[in-house]
Amino acid sequence: MRLVLLGPPGAGKGTQAHRLAEKYGVLLVSTGDLFREHSRRDTHLGRQARAYMDRGELVPDEIVLSMVLARIGAPGAAGGFMLDGFPRTLNQAEALEESLEEWGLELTAALDLELDEEIVVKRLTARRVCSSCGRPYNVELSPPAETGVCGSCGGELVQREDDREDVVRRRLEVYERETASLVEFYEQRGLLRRIDGDGTEDEVTERAEAALRG
Ligand code: AMP
Repeated sequence: MRLVLLGPPGAGKGTQAHRLAEKYGVLLVSTGDLFREHSRRDTHLGRQARAYMDRGELVPDEIVLSMVLARIGAPGAAGGFMLDGFPRTLNQAEALEESLEEWGLELTAALDLELDEEIVVKRLTARRVCSSCGRPYNVELSPPAETGVCGSCGGELVQREDDREDVVRRRLEVYERETASLVEFYEQRGLLRRIDGDGTEDEVTERAEAALRG
């Protein structure tokens, strides 16, 4: 199974990508997580990406593309993959399509998680993530048992720099401008599966599975 996950920031792509990748036994490639990991380790790539991420802007295509295509072209992706946060521009979607064609592969589907913009802003500004293991919490809906402490590993919970409200609004503008048109791109290819992103994690996973069966 080779899947792309679309939808605005805050729609729950990261959560669903983890669940679905595990369920289908495919390699999870999350570009945001990869950039954050590089940023934490202060690598050259991490320093390049951080400046864009902290402003809510997209990292330039050539940086993203070399990172992603190397992963999905590697033997670890032979059993399939789930792309979270990629593609985000038409240029990225076309480059992905060309590479898959070269390798004689096809996408199975593009899942689009739909969610109203005001719900997105509420979700993202209430989000805290563990600085150690990355597990996300919502301070209103799913707070940790002990304030500020990760229930999984005891790490410190922090707010992502780009989850501040002004940056969230900027990310949504960038989504509308650069990424929203990919829904049409995949619809034209008969690959699009729309899913309502409002509901519990389990409900949304069930909808995704049903959409992939159907
Ligand atoms: P995310 O965790 O998916 O919201 O990604 C966080 C940030 O990483 C984005 O706001 C971008 O700055 C950067 N990023 C992640 N994926 C991409 C991509 N495919 N193209 C460009 N920038 C990206």
